[in-house]
Amino acid sequence: YRKDTGRNGYSFFDPSMNANAEEHLQMVQDLRQAVEKGELLLHYQPRFDDPEGPIRGAEALVRWQHPHRGLIQPDDFIPTAEKTGLIIDIDNWVLDEACRQLKQWRDQGRDWTISVHLSPLQFAHADLIQTVRSALKRHELPPNSLILEITESTAMRNVDASMVILKQLDDLGVKISIDDFGTGYSSLLYLKRLPASELKIDRGFIKELVRDTEDAAIVSAIIALGKALQLKIVAEGVETRAQQEFLSELGCDALQGYLLGHPVPAAEFPGLDT
Ligand code: C2E
Ligand code: MG
Ligand code: MG
Repeated sequence: YRKDTGRNGYSFFDPSMNANAEEHLQMVQDLRQAVEKGELLLHYQPRFDDPEGPIRGAEALVRWQHPHRGLIQPDDFIPTAEKTGLIIDIDNWVLDEACRQLKQWRDQGRDWTISVHLSPLQFAHADLIQTVRSALKRHELPPNSLILEITESTAMRNVDASMVILKQLDDLGVKISIDDFGTGYSSLLYLKRLPASELKIDRGFIKELVRDTEDAAIVSAIIALGKALQLKIVAEGVETRAQQEFLSELGCDALQGYLLGHPVPAAEFPGLDT
């Protein structure tokens, strides 16, 4: 900090930091109203079991259409939403909207699943089970058409509490996906008992998969682990044909990535014109 000439002695912020703090406050205020004002929207990224086969589902990814700042990506507002607790309203909205969309697709004959994120706060929330149950009921969806994604760090933060929540979700019949797998600190002992149905290998390991022998070793170990524990293994961030072939050879169960489909608004989702 710099020494201030003002009568309070010290200031911890320089003027530019003050501007940032103000901007931050403004963002929190805007975010507070984003749900009510209907400024949130979802993009959907297709998911494949067989890259040559049909779409099997979609991952819902939130965006914020800010009135002045344009389209804001989740990495630029989810952390703030998480810190302020606003994430609960956001994730509830996402869950409801994604279920509504899936219902519409299923009514059109698409036997797809929908993947929806649970933030750490949402995951630990006392109302979670009831919220999920009523979303399924409201949209008349079979529980196993909903995949809830929680990150590895969320799942492992408090393993005993996680186990209880995951067990309840499992009893409800929804599927659990451990997102960004490989970036957290999984206890293999817990992983063995975790009622999850899939592990989603973090994009960071896929990027250099074909060139980097260490990444290749990690990915192949995760796939072997998944097979041994009877967990489905999903790779995200597949951008090249070489990555796709490499993953298929290793026996990866499902794929997502720009190669196969970008996240897009529901109206542009592929495979709906037939
Ligand atoms: P994630 O769940 O790991 O999602 C994957 C991210 O990678 C998405 O970014 C997606 O657009 C991007 N992606 C997909 N395929 C490719 C590819 O081939 N190459 C590259 N480079 N990127 C790819 P996005 O949409 O910006 O989301 C970022 C993160 O924000 C997500 O990571 C997720 O953790 C979080 N998020 C997104 N939607 C929600 C939500 O509704 N609620 C909560 N709590 N978090 C969300
Ligand atoms: Mg995800
Ligand atoms: Mg990820």
